[in-house]
Amino acid sequence: MVNIPLPMKGQARELIVGIDLGTTNSLCAEVVNGKPVVILDREGRAITPSVVGIDDEHHAVVGDAAVERGLTNPAGTIRSVKRFMGRGLKDISDVEVGRLPYKIVRTAGSEQVAVRVHGREYLPQELSALILGEVKKRAVKATGGKLKRAVITVPAYFDDGQRQATRDAGRMAGIDVLRIINEPTAAALAYGLHRGKSGTVLVYDLGGGTFDVSILKLTEGVFKVIATTGNTALGGDDFDYAMIDLLTAGLSDEDKAALDAHVQGRVALKMAAERAKIALSGQDSTSIQLHVGDVSLDTTVTRAQYEAAIDPFVELTFDAIDFVLDEAGLDPEDIGDVVCVGGSTRTPLVRARLEEHFDKPPHTDLDPDQVVAMGAAIQASMLAGEHAGDGTVLLDVTPLSLGIETYGGGCSKLLWRNSPIPVRATEGYTTQVDDQTSVDIHVLQGEREMAKDLRSLGRFKLRGIPPMKAGMPRVLIEFFIDANGILKVQAKEMTSGVEAGIEVTPTYGLTDDQVEDMIFDSIEHAEEDVEAHLLADTKVEAGSVLRYSRKIIVDRPDLVPPPLAVQIEAAIGGLVAALESPDREVIDAAMQVLNESTAPVAAHLMNEVLQVTVHGKTMGEVLGTKPRTKASEIQLT
Ligand code: ADP
Ligand code: MG
Repeated sequence: MVNIPLPMKGQARELIVGIDLGTTNSLCAEVVNGKPVVILDREGRAITPSVVGIDDEHHAVVGDAAVERGLTNPAGTIRSVKRFMGRGLKDISDVEVGRLPYKIVRTAGSEQVAVRVHGREYLPQELSALILGEVKKRAVKATGGKLKRAVITVPAYFDDGQRQATRDAGRMAGIDVLRIINEPTAAALAYGLHRGKSGTVLVYDLGGGTFDVSILKLTEGVFKVIATTGNTALGGDDFDYAMIDLLTAGLSDEDKAALDAHVQGRVALKMAAERAKIALSGQDSTSIQLHVGDVSLDTTVTRAQYEAAIDPFVELTFDAIDFVLDEAGLDPEDIGDVVCVGGSTRTPLVRARLEEHFDKPPHTDLDPDQVVAMGAAIQASMLAGEHAGDGTVLLDVTPLSLGIETYGGGCSKLLWRNSPIPVRATEGYTTQVDDQTSVDIHVLQGEREMAKDLRSLGRFKLRGIPPMKAGMPRVLIEFFIDANGILKVQAKEMTSGVEAGIEVTPTYGLTDDQVEDMIFDSIEHAEEDVEAHLLADTKVEAGSVLRYSRKIIVDRPDLVPPPLAVQIEAAIGGLVAALESPDREVIDAAMQVLNESTAPVAAHLMNEVLQVTVHGKTMGEVLGTKPRTKASEIQLT
């Protein structure tokens, strides 16, 4: 039996769990004494069927109760809601929708689908929240603890929308979702495969209605999904239907039709087939008796018969394996570990075929129904700052974007949120004023556009830059986040070689809620933010154009005769006045007038440059200052 610490007298222990929110079944696990264990309910059940039953008064039951009620309330019994998470009607095939006993509709005002039951619409997130709520309720009842924080798993192929819908479901269930992680990554964690230095893992997940296969690459303790594929309509259900065919093979056509016409008959037959299938995972033959209405069935099926019947489906999974290996540019012998996930991998034929294909036995020591939840629990305890045996921190993506402040108060992003780590990015910058011997590097985090709206992670100065004209220094800035989530920022001026840098932990003191707030904030302010950033950049550019224009009047009277000087002065005055305006277009227009007035001079200078470069001088030296900034050479403060 599993050893769950008892709550201390008078205070509820906090449960930090991993939840496998499955298409067919859901469950949760927690780390106890450094080991992940699945939380069993009082009846000793680990699994909550991912099924919601809604009666005509809109009372919902979840899990086993919903499965039982499904016999009498098929139209109000929702299974496999995970297939619809974060999806639009156009993402879902008609075949999928056609097979369902309830209606899938589009929600008013959004692309998202909803499920219509007894005249009311339910969002997939709401239904998933009910399932999560049931999992939570069971865990709380079984342990007497309080469940607030959890890691929830999703298939590797889930896109941002589907991940967000899963997060929302967690929130609706009153769970603080520490992180959404990939199911195959969780499975590899459960087997402790992250403890190696490197390696390539293939995760084979054959569940009730879906099949996924992913290849993970481990580098410096972090898993990255390098290829994934699957079939959202292949799994244990197909095995059940193959079994139904075997069971009913001896029946007359009338009896078959009678069984099929009987809703309860169909459900009972499916359940009997599943029982027979599971029996054949442990024994060589099984007998089934079933009575529905006037139809009686009494038959024996052997494992050999059953394996022949499911072989085409098993073959399909190996086609997918070949495909994913090909995607990753690997051969079967390049795979170090094969991990089995999902109840259907208990099928002996599946295990035998995997061993044959990879020439090594797959990992099957852990319960294939439980490994995803166990791995999620390990990740949850890591994120909550506990130790999962070895203390490795596994932050596999950066939760927020990172960048530096540029002249004018904008932020130049070097790393975007959700970048898998470890990750490195380099960008070139330059100075804004002549003879600037130091630059301030202000490291920022978040999704907004302006430095003032971002989280400041730290600042440092790069000193000792030899005096040069503005725009001449080449400051390379490198961001590197290592496997532990530590950010190292390094700045180097290339012509002189001076360097400086800092190290910060971007996630330090940051809760998941804050991360979400920051992201939501940026969405809310997206438009004004972009406008503010553009305005700031325009002002910087205007400053640069002003300096350049004033300089040529003074430095090159040979090229600027008095009438032209008057014209340029007027345009300078126009731009200075325009800079008072909050309207970017007003500044842009004035800048254009000034640029046009200096255009003949610029053309002349350009010609000179072309000649002078031949004599070893650069354009910058001739022009004195840069009229324009290249996007990759944003000016530093
Ligand atoms: P999901 O990931 O879709 O939620 P699971 O991983 O829980 O699904 O797998 C459920 C499937 O596993 C069902 O089709 C079930 O019949 C099948 N299954 C469970 N135990 C066995 C077994 N011993 N032998 C074969 N299939 C099994
Ligand atoms: Mg699963």
